[in-house]
Amino acid sequence: MFIDGQWIQAKDKKTFSVINPANGDVIGMIPDGGEAEAKMAVTAADKAFPLWSSRTAYQRSAFLYQAHTLMMENLEHLAGTMTQEQGKPIQAARNEVKYGADFLLWFAEEAKRIYGKTIPSSRADQRFMVIKQPVGVVAAITPWNYPMSMITRKVAPALAAGCTIVLKPAEATPLCAIEIFKLLEKAGLPKGVANLVTGLDPEPVGKVFMTDKRIAKLTFTGSTAIGKMLARGAAGQMKRVSLELGGHAPFIVCKDADPVHAAKGLSLVKFLNTGQACISPNRIYVHSTMKEAFLKVLTEKVAQMTAGNGMSPGVKIGPLVNAAAIEKVDSQVKDAIKKGATLVSGGFRIMDNEMDKGYFYAPTILDGVTEEMRIYREETFGPVLPVISYENEDDLLKMANDTDYGLAAYVYTKAHSTAMKFFEGLHFGIIGINDINPTSAAAPFGGMKMSGIGREGACEGIDEYLETKLGGFSLNG
Ligand code: ADP
Repeated sequence: MFIDGQWIQAKDKKTFSVINPANGDVIGMIPDGGEAEAKMAVTAADKAFPLWSSRTAYQRSAFLYQAHTLMMENLEHLAGTMTQEQGKPIQAARNEVKYGADFLLWFAEEAKRIYGKTIPSSRADQRFMVIKQPVGVVAAITPWNYPMSMITRKVAPALAAGCTIVLKPAEATPLCAIEIFKLLEKAGLPKGVANLVTGLDPEPVGKVFMTDKRIAKLTFTGSTAIGKMLARGAAGQMKRVSLELGGHAPFIVCKDADPVHAAKGLSLVKFLNTGQACISPNRIYVHSTMKEAFLKVLTEKVAQMTAGNGMSPGVKIGPLVNAAAIEKVDSQVKDAIKKGATLVSGGFRIMDNEMDKGYFYAPTILDGVTEEMRIYREETFGPVLPVISYENEDDLLKMANDTDYGLAAYVYTKAHSTAMKFFEGLHFGIIGINDINPTSAAAPFGGMKMSGIGREGACEGIDEYLETKLGGFSLNG
């Protein structure tokens, strides 16, 4: 753990093991911290806050630039760590390292643009001035699916804003967090400004984050269930919260779309990270007349996807995170088949070529999916494509919006007017129009409804770490 500028063990020297999900190998023994360590980290962050927040924007920016340079210089090493710990194919890991580094660069620039404003008053003697100030100490909890970029997406804007931070990474991927913190240290991080608490049981750390008065803000990426629990807990002290939660993205192929182009795009986005992404398409709406052409291309693409250890060249499908993930995916697939879906490909755990030692599930296509099936509403977080036929395009908007989630949606159409209708009518925070990758450090990422509160990245991303303060100045006196 990295607390107050020191690399330390847990107080009682306890550790927990980290497993490579591709083969079950133990790849690290990590300090098993809890309440005591979380408190120490908050103390360090609280102590560091006056100094860090009084650094100029240019000084904070320079630190983030340096961290960005180091992250890019260490790209290969970071990507290798990620593939071993999280499982994604090495090229996808390289892409994530770059995406993660992008946040350091973006917020190095945004640090210098924390503008205030003046507002005209109706009183001749009065002036209004609005300034932005850092919220204070931030507590951050990150997930395992994007184990580096989800860290920089929170740490970079927090530090740019002048906040100090305590981070608890997911118990499945602490090594990635440790590697990022090593680079922050090397970039010249003053002690206590960013602190890392690792642990197997997230609960005691989460409790400190919700109840310690010195923490002003809680930022979380993970499941909706845990996000709601944390928001409820944080409400006790009215802490600011940002929540990036689950999703259930519709992928709409309109009648005028090119089914081949759409199927190719879908095969690329769906299997990124083996479907373990909150913006992964979960309901594929295809017009009945083009379903055959669409499924043909999709099936061909899926057949070309090799599963295996992400370090091996050519592997496109890495393992799922653990046995419970396999169980969840498989039970959703079985439930759909029982209720009448057709299995077009996949539908089983892969056990050959030594993949039984890891957590591999075959890329799967289900056709004839209907509302009664669990997969229609539950997030899957696995390599499964549920295809739904539709007849009438007028019903599509309603069907697509019929979910508690509101993170990402995708639409394929050639008509400008249809694109605009869906862009404006879909209740989701991120809409890809003929585009499968509507994400960037420069663009606001976040959801509506049960998908969360707040946005990350873009100029909105730094606002989440700032308070707005109004000054009313009278010239009399
Ligand atoms: P997933 O099911 O995708 O693992 P979670 O929401 O359980 O999603 O995990 C995301 C992050 O939330 C991880 O860092 C995890 O340790 C953390 N987390 C899970 N349960 C709690 C809790 N009770 N308190 C605080 N953090 C938690």
